[in-house]
Amino acid sequence: MPSFEPTAQAAQLCLDRVQPDDYARTRNSLDGAVTRLSPYITHGFLNLTDVYTAVHARHPLHPKHKLVFELGWRAYFRHVWAHLGDGIVQSLHTGLLPDDSYQAEMPTDVLTARTGIPAIDLTVRELYETGYVHNHARMWLASYLVHLRKVHWRAGAQWMLGHLLDGDLASNHLSWQWVAGTSSSKPYLFNADNVASYAPQLWHSPGSAIDVSYELMDTLARGTQPICAQQDARRADDGVAAPDLCGSPLESRSDGLWCAPTASSQQHLAGRDVWLHHPWSLGTGPTTLATDVLRIGVGIESCHSQTPWNQRRWDFVTLGLRAQTHPLFTLWWGSVEHIAEALKSAKSVHWQSDPHIDPALARLQTLLHAIDPHCVTGPHSTLSLFEPVNTYCRSFSEWWKRTGINDAHTTG
Ligand SMILES: Cc1cc2nc3c(=O)[nH]c(=O)nc-3n(C[C@H](O)[C@H](O)[C@H](O)COP(=O)(O)OP(=O)(O)OC[C@H]3O[C@@H](n4cnc5c(N)ncnc54)[C@H](O)[C@@H]3O)c2cc1C
Repeated sequence: MPSFEPTAQAAQLCLDRVQPDDYARTRNSLDGAVTRLSPYITHGFLNLTDVYTAVHARHPLHPKHKLVFELGWRAYFRHVWAHLGDGIVQSLHTGLLPDDSYQAEMPTDVLTARTGIPAIDLTVRELYETGYVHNHARMWLASYLVHLRKVHWRAGAQWMLGHLLDGDLASNHLSWQWVAGTSSSKPYLFNADNVASYAPQLWHSPGSAIDVSYELMDTLARGTQPICAQQDARRADDGVAAPDLCGSPLESRSDGLWCAPTASSQQHLAGRDVWLHHPWSLGTGPTTLATDVLRIGVGIESCHSQTPWNQRRWDFVTLGLRAQTHPLFTLWWGSVEHIAEALKSAKSVHWQSDPHIDPALARLQTLLHAIDPHCVTGPHSTLSLFEPVNTYCRSFSEWWKRTGINDAHTTG
């Protein structure tokens, strides 16, 4: 079972282990040489440029190497998010059935890993026990929920997002849409033979609802009736309890390390340069940061109210932030207004850009300037691994044709 330490050293170790040739050959198998870098990428320990540069230095990567292509998927989903904004939480177009043919509630037997279908129950267990699931298993679970159980992709995406350590709004919601067929020209369907080709024996699911031909799977996916889950459920064991989701670290056991900014901590900020670490920037920050910069960890309420996280994810984020930030300060939790008030005497305030938090931090910037127009503030953006594509591309292939590795990463 993979486990993930929220430290820069653990991220580096994971990066050092990447074997690009093995990856290209075996990435579709559950026991293949996948990188498991995603929690470190999502939470800002590493960006795509770091990954590419480190691997390329050991093993020159052709721009069309499978690993570069997969990094491209992440960048493409960010491209879509940048162009459509909140539009990505709606179906980009109608899928096999109208949106209202799908239910908004997650079925209890799936939530508790009691469907009786090994490929589904083991995926749910891994999700809860480790916060990491192989891409192929994510696809199986999403396809089963949407096409056989008739659960709306958004309900599945929202649930999975809270339990994944790498939960990323764009990669998650747009992958669910890709499986559902609401962002692509066809839905993703699978069956027990496909599971048997890519997963260890324990996962094989003969005689279950997924043990059907692709033709029948297609017919079931186009029908409005969910499959009858009772028969498989009879084979299920006791299952697991779904971990609770918390919209704030104050509701989690990380509670003691977070609190509203206090007046006593604020007095240390006067005239100082501040680097804000947030849940999507647990890394050390840019190498150009001065050594005397004051590092403060913040969480902004509005960024979490719609997407609660489980305890594992709050622990990962809390420990990651704690390791980077000044011991004198607790991690600050509050509204943008509270945080702006607390930072008002700082000389400068900077942070790493990330679309999960950029709108809130843009508001922070406005508030800080209103208090003190001389306060220097702003996001730090790293050079993108891929050439930016300004016009919106509806498909990955269209985007892929227009982009390429940024010259700055291949020369010199
Ligand atoms: C239903 C569903 C939900 C998903 N939700 C998320 C999510 O919330 N966050 C997330 O980061 N990824 C998500 N993905 C994409 C993909 O499953 C994960 O990025 C990948 O499994 C992470 O494991 P890894 O680091 O070992 O990947 P590797 O295969 O080793 O790939 C290396 C890196 O490339 C990127 N990458 C690889 N495959 C994809 C892909 N298909 N789409 C986007 N980026 C990719 C990731 O940054 C990954 O860390 C989802 C996929 C599906 C089908």
